Amino acid sequence: MSVATSSRKASFDVVIIGAGFTGLYQLWSLRRLGLRVLAVDAASGVGGTWYWNCYPGARTDSPSNIYQYWFSDELLDEWNWTQRYAGQAESERYFNHVADRFELRKDIRLNTRVESAVWNEDASQWTLTTDQGDALEARFVVTALGPLSAPVVPPFVGHESFAGRMVHTARWPREGIDLKGKRVGVIGTGATGIQVIQSIAPEVAHLSVFQRTANYAVPMSNPSYGDAERAAIRAKYPQTREAIWTTFVGFDEQGETRPYFSIPVEERRAILERLWSDGSLRIWVAGFMEIFFDQAASDEISEFVREKIRVRIRDPKVAAKLVPQDHGFGTRRVPLENGYFEAYNRPNVDLIDLRETPIERITPKGILTSAGEIELDVIVLATGFDAGTGGLTGIDIRGRDGRSLRQEWKREVRTTMGLQIHGYPNLFTTSAPYAPAAAFCNAPTCLQHQVQWITDCIDHLVKNQRRVIEPAAETEQKWLAHHDELAAMTLVAKTKSWYTGARGYEGFEVA
Ligand code: NAP
Repeated sequence: MSVATSSRKASFDVVIIGAGFTGLYQLWSLRRLGLRVLAVDAASGVGGTWYWNCYPGARTDSPSNIYQYWFSDELLDEWNWTQRYAGQAESERYFNHVADRFELRKDIRLNTRVESAVWNEDASQWTLTTDQGDALEARFVVTALGPLSAPVVPPFVGHESFAGRMVHTARWPREGIDLKGKRVGVIGTGATGIQVIQSIAPEVAHLSVFQRTANYAVPMSNPSYGDAERAAIRAKYPQTREAIWTTFVGFDEQGETRPYFSIPVEERRAILERLWSDGSLRIWVAGFMEIFFDQAASDEISEFVREKIRVRIRDPKVAAKLVPQDHGFGTRRVPLENGYFEAYNRPNVDLIDLRETPIERITPKGILTSAGEIELDVIVLATGFDAGTGGLTGIDIRGRDGRSLRQEWKREVRTTMGLQIHGYPNLFTTSAPYAPAAAFCNAPTCLQHQVQWITDCIDHLVKNQRRVIEPAAETEQKWLAHHDELAAMTLVAKTKSWYTGARGYEGFEVA
């Protein structure tokens, strides 16, 4: 059945919010059930994360052979990845190809931000309003907002006074910014900051990096792919497809199964060296599980990584600041890097350790720390996202009896398996908090898994003429207790990061 995508008031079986990785697959999957489906996205193009994050150096950290869809053999056969780790432009091209290849665009409304979603109990349906004046009625709503889609601008004093240019990495202008010859400050040294810093250091006049927490990072090995490499990768697709559903976090390799301390120390070291030299995240997610649970193993593996970092930085004082000491390797999201640590050997790059000299305010000329003012032309905010929750609380979602998700989540974030929320019937969420592997996963694997579950669930409801599905309060409570019991066993839960929602400040703006 075709869907009119231009009318202001329209009715659908399902409205999907978001046309990124998840939204496109969800649209393809639900349309195959013969349902009337519309996907809506605030962006002017498809691709989600890979549309918005066009900052210098943006690139995936999961290899292209597992950062892709598995639903179509034709797609797997015809799409030619050019590198092990695809850059932003290549990833964005892939999503545009998928949208064209499967004729998804006719059911996608771009440049349209959903502002509210209100459940109508009598009609058992949702009404969504958009910034374009649409009123979209839908029996089911699927949010495909991505875990990292609400960029956070910390509440720096004097923010508005800056006379130069200030930009958040996730709102980088698509036409780019000419940084040549400029004095640039980057705040934040997470996966994004690392990519920006290593990319722009050679071209800017001066780079000041404002670091609050030092991060571990693994050197990326990123060979180009020609026909021979692609043929070899394609030949392994049946095994890869099988593996990603069964490994620890949706990568294609399982880690060491022997207990860490049962392995002789020289052999442990040799295994770590082998994993390290792979130039991938294997040392994190396909190495030793003990890094997530066992303090002694974490200490030893962390020290191995610290040694690798230290030797790359010429000035021992700078090295001491760049080597993480306050958390174990892998307890925060580990980024891959390309010359990140060497950037600090350049004469035009300074590291400002905010633990020693905190930012006091933004000034018209730059950034004032407790050690003095640093003059800048451009400030890059690589300050991360309101992870997991920000996409959903950015919409005024009203469930049963007018309850507000935004208000409820200010008190306590709750979901049932990250897929539904008590009090919000027929609302399905993806990449939401408390999913079994919402954040701690090769995102494409877990998101495809969630889409498949939602598709099967909606199919079941439609076939069995059940109008409404909603988790019971007790089910949700049991799930949360189970989740917390498992999470509490890990070192990840004891570490501040976006995984645990720790931001280090209250009150922020979404860019
Ligand atoms: P992030 O990991 O949350 O890092 C934000 C950075 O900003 C941190 O260094 C943080 O310091 C700093 N920061 C925040 N508020 C600050 C303040 N008020 N003052 C000073 N510093 C402040 O965000 P991200 O780097 O954008 O990465 C988020 C996630 O996106 C990644 O973990 C990854 O999952 C994904 N990502 C993936 C790729 C890839 O695949 N290659 C690339 C980029 C991002 P603290 O650490 O002290 O909080």
